[in-house]
Amino acid sequence: MELAHTPDDQIFREELRGWLVEHAPPPPPPEVGPALRARDVAWQRSLFDAGYAGITWPREYGGRGLTLTQQMIWYEETARAGISHVNSLFVGVSHAGPTIIACGTDEQKARWLPPILRGDAIWCQGFSEPDAGSDLASLRTTAERDGDDLVLNGVKIWTSYAQIADHQEMLVRTDPDAPKHQGITWLVCDMRQPGIEIRPIRTLVRESHFCEVHYHDVRVPIADVVGALHDGWRVARATLAYEHGIANLGQQIRMSRTVEQIVETARARGCDDAMWARIADARADVASLRAMTALMVSRISREDLPGPEGSLVKLRYGEVSQRIHELGVDVLGVDGLEFVADDHALTYGYLASLAATIGGGTSEIQRDIVAERLLGLPR
Ligand SMILES: Cc1cc2nc3c(=O)[nH]c(=O)nc-3n(C[C@H](O)[C@H](O)[C@H](O)COP(=O)(O)OP(=O)(O)OC[C@H]3O[C@@H](n4cnc5c(N)ncnc54)[C@H](O)[C@@H]3O)c2cc1C
Repeated sequence: MELAHTPDDQIFREELRGWLVEHAPPPPPPEVGPALRARDVAWQRSLFDAGYAGITWPREYGGRGLTLTQQMIWYEETARAGISHVNSLFVGVSHAGPTIIACGTDEQKARWLPPILRGDAIWCQGFSEPDAGSDLASLRTTAERDGDDLVLNGVKIWTSYAQIADHQEMLVRTDPDAPKHQGITWLVCDMRQPGIEIRPIRTLVRESHFCEVHYHDVRVPIADVVGALHDGWRVARATLAYEHGIANLGQQIRMSRTVEQIVETARARGCDDAMWARIADARADVASLRAMTALMVSRISREDLPGPEGSLVKLRYGEVSQRIHELGVDVLGVDGLEFVADDHALTYGYLASLAATIGGGTSEIQRDIVAERLLGLPR
């Protein structure tokens, strides 16, 4: 494994750092709506124009064709510049696009990939259903064939940013008689068509990026199926591998910034030795997570798809994230309760971190994957 940066990596870092000083976007508005969409697409467009979109994506689809190490540098530098780039761009850039690169036809790649990188299209993910989360393969949204179309009926839930999305990567049941993993299809649904009803769900951090999405006779052309009909579970495994493996790199790297914010707060407010010991542990946790992530990036660079070790990193990320954000509110003491009045970043981070062991697959499910696929334990 080679973790040292090459001269090209250093040049890439310095150029990007200089560019970010001039071009950082405004912070995202608190509500999910047209203002957030405008901010996110403008940021993506300026990344694209400067050659900083799709760092590892093939050049023919508008990417830079660079290494995963340079992608990691991109995350480090945007985190260093305090830029929140996740938001509504996450699905398209981090796992729908990579899935299409891995499993789509040439025509699909040419049609969908450049608009993702240019910021012309926002994507969301319609995998989870009210009765199919961890056991995703039990999903029940149906898609029946009618000529050259599939006709969709059903409900998806926890769909982040559905209200401002143009496209949705989606899993549907196309063969109800097949064994549950074999009757599923992965397709792309146009979110602006009739028959789609979007109901935002408010959460304890007040923003409502979560939605419940209802489909009433929604038509999707067969040409928008990625992989073959009924072959969606294979394609979904690629999506989930990206989602568990590298999609969260940015959040992981930004945690070191949170720890430094906690250090500044502790210095300003004063805290006892026990609290400083917890802060030291938090720094060590972030350093160990970074080392695990670097190891994973090094492995993925040699193999085509992220492997099950992504689950190890995701598991550790979720737990470390919650521990660090809990420390943040403990350092604030009673003032940590001022969230309602002040939107205090550390308190917001604490409430948001409760989702870190759920989104993208819960910690229990990551443990199952590690047990079965990495340790070879029985189901
Ligand atoms: C921030 C965030 C963003 C999300 N965005 C999206 C999105 O955009 N699109 C989308 O489709 N989904 C999204 N989700 C949904 C997410 O994928 C699901 O919440 C997750 O897969 C868990 O499913 P569930 O909520 O139905 O919980 P359940 O599957 O009902 O699980 C409930 C509890 O039972 C445990 N459990 C279940 N099965 C097992 C098992 N076999 N062994 C041990 N324990 C088990 C779970 O770990 C959990 O603690 C998002 C979730 C979050 C938190």
